[in-house]
Amino acid sequence: MSLSPSVTSPQATIGHHLNGRATLPASGRSQPVFNPATGAVSGHVALASAADVDVAVSAAQAAFPAWADTPPIRRARVMFKFLELLNKNKDKLAHLITAEHGKVFTDAQGEVSRGIDIVEFACGIPQLLKGDFTDQVSTGIDNWTLRQPLGVVAGITPFNFPVMVPMWMFPVAIAAGNSFVLKPSPIDPSASLYMADLLKQAGLPDGVFNVVQGDKEAVDALLVHPDVKAVSFVGSTPIANYIYETGAHHGKRVQALGGAKNHMVVMPDADLNQAVDALIGAGYGSAGERCMAISVAVLVGNVADKLIPMLAARAKTLVIKNGVELDAEMGPIVTAAAHQRITGYIEQGVKEGATLLVDGRGHTVKGYEQGFWMGGTLFDHVTPDMRIYKEEIFGPVLGCVRVKDLAEAVNLINAHEFGNGVSCFTRDGHVAREFSRRIQVGMVGINVPIPVPMAWHGFGGWKKSLFGDMHAYGEEGVRFYTKQKSIMQRWPESIGKGAEFVMPTAK
Ligand code: NAD
Repeated sequence: MSLSPSVTSPQATIGHHLNGRATLPASGRSQPVFNPATGAVSGHVALASAADVDVAVSAAQAAFPAWADTPPIRRARVMFKFLELLNKNKDKLAHLITAEHGKVFTDAQGEVSRGIDIVEFACGIPQLLKGDFTDQVSTGIDNWTLRQPLGVVAGITPFNFPVMVPMWMFPVAIAAGNSFVLKPSPIDPSASLYMADLLKQAGLPDGVFNVVQGDKEAVDALLVHPDVKAVSFVGSTPIANYIYETGAHHGKRVQALGGAKNHMVVMPDADLNQAVDALIGAGYGSAGERCMAISVAVLVGNVADKLIPMLAARAKTLVIKNGVELDAEMGPIVTAAAHQRITGYIEQGVKEGATLLVDGRGHTVKGYEQGFWMGGTLFDHVTPDMRIYKEEIFGPVLGCVRVKDLAEAVNLINAHEFGNGVSCFTRDGHVAREFSRRIQVGMVGINVPIPVPMAWHGFGGWKKSLFGDMHAYGEEGVRFYTKQKSIMQRWPESIGKGAEFVMPTAK
């Protein structure tokens, strides 16, 4: 069974959402949007100029005071309504994702569900914003803290989760009383407009949520705009670093989540069938284009000789189809350029001396000859000096590294420049505990290959996988999108004791 593949027409222009309205620019730059399964152009996305960004920020700035003053319970009610609309329309959103990203429809449904989790979390904003209070800090004086919204905040998001990653940001930011400008990836821009439409239907006042489509020009305009108070970014490490430095230089609060190279350790005592299923799903799911994808299997002791033949056999039988086919396990690569980059890495791995066990190059799918297809690729005997080990490939390429024991596995992973996610498969509780405590990585799975934290725990890697102090969503998200204010109050019975020149202390 399959779903109808076409969403937009090649002539369609995918525009912005400004001040509550879908806006098509009369002129300006644009770029084609592709359906990666067919290789055909499905529309053209507008690329905002600095002037377009200014319109978005001005709309958000104008909407901010009234929205910030709206009681949190009423902001939460808009979120509840948005939640209801999302649940009603979640397959439409998933369909938009598959049409422009290429990931299989069932995986796109999972992405939308994980975004919905954050909206559910944001519905609890009255509780999350509750401050604390100390009665009688000094005689006749009380002190309390409260959290207030920042103003206009911006989100700059990657192609690989066009619904979930924006939803890591805007539900919490908006519920906390900020107004928001989203700059999605121009590779798969349509879902952002659909979310904007649902927010409007939910009763969100115009200007509180805006979308500007675009590329570096739009990003740079946001980074220097004096009315943008904070920037949340998710994407590759070089751009995350640039966003962090530039945003901070312009006085903004910045959280910039970067790239990854996630390892999965398989201990000799692990259940091998479970480990193979986990490596196949986490290595090749979404064509390896997840920031939490597993791209390195670290095989401990004698486990490699048993596990690798099982892995190779399964990698060869991946069901690779247009993502609208409901039995597809893996869809196409997102763009022709990404396909070329991944192909280059496979060539590099062969040149560097890794053993290519399964070669995904040259894969075709009947009826979709122009699509950006690639099969699952498996390397054995990958070593830490190789580029295919050190660099993020972001494709369906899994490399196996053989190590003698747990200590060598932990040292290997800790020496890597990325620290997003990691996993360890074992049946030994002590090994699991030691691994979790010693590993220098932000998100750890024990017998869980892709440990993306739930909405109330927050998401963030370590080392070059995150620039900034705060993780995305969860309570850290609430803290990121609000500033703390301390209020100390005295209502004296009588005045006139004279000025005090000594630092106030409790009396
Ligand atoms: P990307 O860095 O190319 O793009 C991300 C965003 O930055 C997009 O909106 C893009 O338009 C913008 N951008 C691109 N080049 C820019 C430039 N020179 N100046 C300013 N802005 C620019 O990333 P991508 O290819 O869309 O997404 C894949 C990357 O994102 C991978 O590295 C992946 O690991 C990472 N990612 C990380 C996480 C995480 O949570 N750590 C989550 C998802 C994706």
